[in-house]
Amino acid sequence: MQIAPAFKAPTRLLMGPGPSNAPAEVLAAMSQPLVGHLDPVFVKMMEELKTMLRAVFLTRNDMTFPISGTGSAGMEFCFVNLVEPGDEVIVGVNGVFGTRMVDVAERCGARVTKVESGWGNSIAPQQIAEALRTVSKPKLVAIVHAETSTGALTPVEEISKLTHDAGALLLLDTVTSLGGCPVRIDEWNVDAVYSGTQKCLSCPPGLAPVSLNARALEVARRRRTKVQSWYLDVNLLASYWGQERVYHHTAPISMNYALHAALRLVLEEGLENRWRRHKQNHLALKSALAAIGLELASQDGHQLWQLNAVRVPQGVDEADVRKRLLNDFNIEVGAGLGPLKGKIWRVGLMGETSSRENVRLFLSAFCQVLNECGRKTDAKAALAAVE
Ligand SMILES: *Cc1c(COP(=O)(O)O)cnc(C)c1O
Repeated sequence: MQIAPAFKAPTRLLMGPGPSNAPAEVLAAMSQPLVGHLDPVFVKMMEELKTMLRAVFLTRNDMTFPISGTGSAGMEFCFVNLVEPGDEVIVGVNGVFGTRMVDVAERCGARVTKVESGWGNSIAPQQIAEALRTVSKPKLVAIVHAETSTGALTPVEEISKLTHDAGALLLLDTVTSLGGCPVRIDEWNVDAVYSGTQKCLSCPPGLAPVSLNARALEVARRRRTKVQSWYLDVNLLASYWGQERVYHHTAPISMNYALHAALRLVLEEGLENRWRRHKQNHLALKSALAAIGLELASQDGHQLWQLNAVRVPQGVDEADVRKRLLNDFNIEVGAGLGPLKGKIWRVGLMGETSSRENVRLFLSAFCQVLNECGRKTDAKAALAAVE
């Protein structure tokens, strides 16, 4: 066997649905020497991570820590701990991640009621209210805050109130929203939440920040059946991430270094400033696209700042444009999924990637590629719309 040459990664501008570009400081943190997962130095860092995560989630929940695994592991963590066979679960489905939640809930033995909305639309509170009326004993309502597959935001507050009035728990997916737009776990009374590191926190993929409030923890503690996942059982994880520091699994040391560095940067910038930056760059991109006759596919008034679903114009080959952006300009954008396949490009402006400079870089390249692909596009008009 011939050994492959050393792998050398190109420098891409990551403007897809994640990962986003990680700041140099975060990548440098990862290359530090390893320490043991029970080293007092590491344990101190774990405490700082928990404190910073609480600040970013805007929660006082004690049980706030990163799961070892990507965002989907955070999803599984929430479902496996809160759901027992036979439980009734309501899931908002308006894209890939709501669909994935249904799959995960069913694997836990839940009886799932789907609340469906068109891909690109948000889930309306009245839809949840109706589902809550039809289900006899709803245990959990699960919603994707920012649907990365379609670019739609579902507001949480009203759904939260309806859920709690019906005596159920609220589970929220904030994988794409955390760090990119307001996420207020305590104010919105969210019982269980998970996120990921590689979207608006701009850290490499590999950890899933989660938080459970006292009500959710009580449900997990009072289960009749054992959590079917040993790895994700909160009762076991609590003794590693809590005060006892009992070995459970070997924490991915370097990933935790990276998250520590990334969260410091988020808090240094300030949540409000960070949200505003995402909003402004989204608006700049949106007006530039309008200037060249392109529009967003997601519902007006519910469009994400961090993920723009750009409708592919008639006669343009969606995949060809993406390929040219990657090969000729080192820019990655995402493809549409499911019913939106071939119909949209997903242009991410997440975390570090969300800058005015990147909006301009993207527009120049994108307009040039569109011209090559047979659609006359005025780059000057696009750039002029980005003030
Ligand atoms: C990316 C994403 C996930 C899954 O995260 P992975 O890190 O890919 O496992 C879940 N939900 C949403 C909304 C996402 O954008």
